[in-house]
Amino acid sequence: MSSESSLRADIVEIGRRMYARGYTASNDGNISVRLGADRLLMTPKSVCKGFMTPDMMCITDLDGRKLQGDRDPSSEMLMHLEVYRQRPEVQAVVHAHPPTATGFAVAGIPLDRAVLAEVLTTLGSIPIAEYATPSTKELPDAVRKYIKAHDGMLLANHGALTVGTDLYGAYYKMETIEHFAKISLVARLLGRENLLSREEVMRLQELRGSYGIQAPAPICADPSMEIGPGAAGDATCQTVQAPKGDGSRLVADVLRRAAEGHSEGEIRLTYGELSALIEDAIRSLR
Ligand SMILES: [Zn+2]
Repeated sequence: MSSESSLRADIVEIGRRMYARGYTASNDGNISVRLGADRLLMTPKSVCKGFMTPDMMCITDLDGRKLQGDRDPSSEMLMHLEVYRQRPEVQAVVHAHPPTATGFAVAGIPLDRAVLAEVLTTLGSIPIAEYATPSTKELPDAVRKYIKAHDGMLLANHGALTVGTDLYGAYYKMETIEHFAKISLVARLLGRENLLSREEVMRLQELRGSYGIQAPAPICADPSMEIGPGAAGDATCQTVQAPKGDGSRLVADVLRRAAEGHSEGEIRLTYGELSALIEDAIRSLR
């Protein structure tokens, strides 16, 4: 467990980065971290996250009662408290309004397509929690549906929320979401978004295990394998949109047939022809 003074310094630094990168404007956003078993260290309300000092932070208990600090805790404290209640292993929570990801949240478009291997292995999918009035009890209620199965989500017409096993882990997921949103937007503007197949998504899920990446729930890329909602109607897997592949790999199949002596199976393609063939196959799967 890091010392309180280093956690205060980390919150100041993450606030500075969020503001510098344009993830927050004015006094938006908030950051919190567990301080031992029953206390939280949290950004105060009504301060710009780009210009905080370590002494500004508040300490609260897990019910949000202020224990220490000259300022009042964040206006979005209820959302943070709900995350810590639902996810005992989570140590830190970050909330911001990164413009591209928030654009998707405003448009009602979740970031749940199988596009980038890196995002699939870390966050899986990024759903949208239903719209709720900020700082009211509605917001934790909306977040509750997805938080058990996801480390990051969009908040409809509002922003994004990420969690982690430490402050930087939670913050980097916010960076990943905004980066992914930018790439998705560019691909859609270019008019084509080639998705990874379900089979490839499942391979990436296996990689999670071999790289020791902790995920709160498995990825569901195949609707027929989708795990139903939990008892309270909450998500139990990370639903990802991915087309069904044919289960085999084009090149491996050709090589196998050639090795088996099927001369009719032999085809000769230039690299360019092969790329075009693969592109065609992917397009036909969409
Ligand atoms: Zn907000």
